[in-house]
Amino acid sequence: MTELLGPAEIRGLAAELDVRPTKKLGQNFVHDPNTVRRIVELAGVGADDVVLEVGPGLGSLTLGLLAPGCRVVAIEIDPKLAARLPRTAAERAPEAAERLTVIGQDALKIKAEDLPAEPTALVANLPYNVAVPVVLQLLAELPSLQRALVMVQTEVADRMAAQPGSRIYGVPSVKLAWYGRAKKVAAVPRAVFWPVPNVDSALVSFERAQLESTVDRKTLFAVVDAAFSQRRKTLRAALATWAGSAERAGEILTKAGVDPKTRGEQLDVRAFEQIALAAS
Ligand code: SAM
Repeated sequence: MTELLGPAEIRGLAAELDVRPTKKLGQNFVHDPNTVRRIVELAGVGADDVVLEVGPGLGSLTLGLLAPGCRVVAIEIDPKLAARLPRTAAERAPEAAERLTVIGQDALKIKAEDLPAEPTALVANLPYNVAVPVVLQLLAELPSLQRALVMVQTEVADRMAAQPGSRIYGVPSVKLAWYGRAKKVAAVPRAVFWPVPNVDSALVSFERAQLESTVDRKTLFAVVDAAFSQRRKTLRAALATWAGSAERAGEILTKAGVDPKTRGEQLDVRAFEQIALAAS
């Protein structure tokens, strides 16, 4: 039986390790077992899954993921936290501890060959300042990742799941839509963390889509970055530097069947694909 970490255990572990949580690493630890159970339930992971957890911290979610039989590969940048985690698992979930591998690295630099198995799902309470780059990097690097359930700052969750035409639709929305479908599934109050952050959080689920896309990802993402770098300009103007000139941008857009006077925030990922194709 796995014992999850409550407020007393989180404080105890932090004191033992002399951890002073830093904002730079987004170190806010979940000290509410009900939140952990909810995340694991919404993730729908079980004994068939190899779960990648980014930023396991003191182990709150890691223990929750071991409970239904998952194999867990946890990547933690803070050496103190990475070193303590196997022992926490051995103490609180002895029968499950051998299913845990801890890798002391920056998740942004992880390569498939660094992992002991191909992960099927990403489940994480992400460090907030690198949440979107981490998700995009892992989707690009690990084709075996089929789904994700991540906790991020509410505003980031809204942007990840935003649809064309909305004010918050932008680079993360389009890039994630290229890989699959993101959905905001639940709100999480800040009180479940220690220390309490000054933002609320939300859970985002993601399903990878099996796309038959002939578009080069780098070209597509360069178009998306350019389109939103000056989001109030028309696409013809916003894409001028990327294309070489406003005239060339206009030609590419016309060839792609996109009105050059429109703005990036109106276009879905398929329209961006047409632009990338027209440019190549
Ligand atoms: N999962 C734990 C929990 O729910 O209590 C901790 C979550 S805390 C929001 C984020 C964790 O990510 C911290 O433990 C932090 O040290 C770690 N972290 C920050 N940047 C990282 C990175 N680039 N790669 C891996 N871990 C990182």
